Amino acid sequence: MSNAIKISKIPALNIHTEEKTVHPFHYSSEFFSDEKPLNSWVNRIEYFRDAATSLHSYGPKYQNNAFVYEKEIEDFQISYNGEDSKTVLTELSHILEGGIRSQSSQAVFNMVPQPLMDTQAAAAAMQLYNVNAIMDTYGGKALLYEQQVARLLGKWVGWSKANGLACNGGKITLLYAIKSAIKRMAPDSDKLGIPKDIVILTSEGAHYSIEHCCEFLGLGSNQCIRIPVDASKGVSHFNLQDTIRKQHNAGKRIAAILCCGGTTLDFVCDDTQSIVDSVHSIKKDLNLEYTPYLHFDSVIGWLWFSFLSDSTRLETLPLPIASKIQKALDKFKGLQHFDSFGVDFHKNGLCPYASSFFIAKDLPITRHNNGASKSYGEVRAFDFTFENSRPASGIASAWVSLKRLGIKGLQEYLISLLEVSDQFKFILSSHANVTLLNNDSLGWEVIFSLEPSLSVSQLYSKDVISEDFYRYVTELTQNGQPIPSISIIKQFGELYKSEGETGYILYPMHPNLKIKDIEKIVGSILNSYEKHQQLLSKKARQISDKPVALPIR
Ligand SMILES: *Cc1c(COP(=O)(O)O)cnc(C)c1O
Repeated sequence: MSNAIKISKIPALNIHTEEKTVHPFHYSSEFFSDEKPLNSWVNRIEYFRDAATSLHSYGPKYQNNAFVYEKEIEDFQISYNGEDSKTVLTELSHILEGGIRSQSSQAVFNMVPQPLMDTQAAAAAMQLYNVNAIMDTYGGKALLYEQQVARLLGKWVGWSKANGLACNGGKITLLYAIKSAIKRMAPDSDKLGIPKDIVILTSEGAHYSIEHCCEFLGLGSNQCIRIPVDASKGVSHFNLQDTIRKQHNAGKRIAAILCCGGTTLDFVCDDTQSIVDSVHSIKKDLNLEYTPYLHFDSVIGWLWFSFLSDSTRLETLPLPIASKIQKALDKFKGLQHFDSFGVDFHKNGLCPYASSFFIAKDLPITRHNNGASKSYGEVRAFDFTFENSRPASGIASAWVSLKRLGIKGLQEYLISLLEVSDQFKFILSSHANVTLLNNDSLGWEVIFSLEPSLSVSQLYSKDVISEDFYRYVTELTQNGQPIPSISIIKQFGELYKSEGETGYILYPMHPNLKIKDIEKIVGSILNSYEKHQQLLSKKARQISDKPVALPIR
């Protein structure tokens, strides 16, 4: 008897065919094909959406029922037979619980926008067709579209031959920048490891993840040196040169300066021309044999670049908005001399997560060493990327966002965010107990403090009250209540003033809010504050001595 006959009789196969009629999983119907109508795919999304709707959350967060991780993790099981689509996708909807509900106009906690339907469709299409942007012979033109996005954005800042890498977030753009800088300073570091005398510089106002990037790269977080800032205008000529001189005197080489290109708090933005000039002059003074790599962390500020490509719209704008935009544009003048910048389309490009781009002036992904263009079949992203296999969803959604919005759409989006922010500031400041703390910001975040009543201030210090109000709002929104999910910043301004002040942050991300909506949101914040004050003055609320988990910035 041959083996083949034996194998055809093994019982497992029989069980499989017998079970086909009762098994909830049918191979034949589970796969997408080009010929099949999309209904069954859309149905799956509808199962999820219907279930998500029945979570009955109408506020800025999906209601969360308290849970402890270890128990939930241990309790997780799958059945032997699997379950049907509807059951599974309905159950999956609970994944939203406790998360931000970006559809809500009260979701003002951070820069979490609702993406355009087209960019969502683009991202979903890449999942549907299972595109792998590892290399062009696998991912087709995903790599070409990636470079089209990068080249276009590079041209806005004056780089003629920019290339880029789509990646999983702004943090990875910073990681790529540091990696590129190390490689430039120590070309053989890929083989020998990182020299011990390398440091990178960044401002006190720059993103908190930079030390972590240094850690991941094996550079070590201590090698990230923070430059003091005097103002949201960015690092000063003096502080930059002083830091460089100190590091140089300590025997260090400065591989990179990571500059701020607009942050979530007060839009901290370094003046790129002044950075370039400072670096140039200190290089001469100290006889440096190298030029530090210059990266611009413009994961937020990139949206302003749309005015670099065409600024005619600026002339037609009301002065306050035009001058805000112009002030930011003035800071971009030295970008030509920078090496790379970052873009987060999922922050302010109306794209879903994650669609970031690291864009570099000189990273010849699509060219040979002699400058000649590569052709299809020659581009291998994995020679440059951290990942090997790579989703194409970020590429597709960024590409669609740019095409759909056009220059005008991007500019209008920015303008409307700034207008909405001004309206928030105007309406907030018409209330006696509100103080605006970031009137001069070039961004659209709104930071303000609330003055407690006399009776409550006699019971607690202002800081304790402020913190507890944030705790109170968090409890309510976590509970699914429809009140604005404001955030908190302790010691706001302490970087550049003698002392900071606790403020609340409101991130309006919906560009089409009407005055009525804004009044409602402000009213809701002040109402909640009033209720909180009453609870405190009646001693109906205990202030917890557990410190609040301060939000990430
Ligand atoms: C958000 C942000 C980052 C990190 O971006 P992710 O997309 O969250 O990884 C880095 N820098 C700045 C200035 C940011 O605002």
